[in-house]
Amino acid sequence: MGRLLFLIAVIVIVYWLLKSYRKQLPKGDTASMQAEDMVRCVHCGVHLPKRESIQAGDKFYCSEEHRRMHAGKSE
Ligand SMILES: [Zn+2]
Repeated sequence: MGRLLFLIAVIVIVYWLLKSYRKQLPKGDTASMQAEDMVRCVHCGVHLPKRESIQAGDKFYCSEEHRRMHAGKSE
């Protein structure tokens, strides 16, 4: 019985921690987050969101085509 109560207490504490943790996360602030995540295509210089870009090492590209073109130029 004691163990069961302990288990329930642990579950409640974990649930409560997750709930309060989620509350701390900023909500509805995606616009500023996207602005911070802008990257520049090293081939043509266009700016685009990081998640829409193609990354190769520490470089970003606007498309797979530009990644290939840039790689072909330097090699
Ligand atoms: Zn490009």
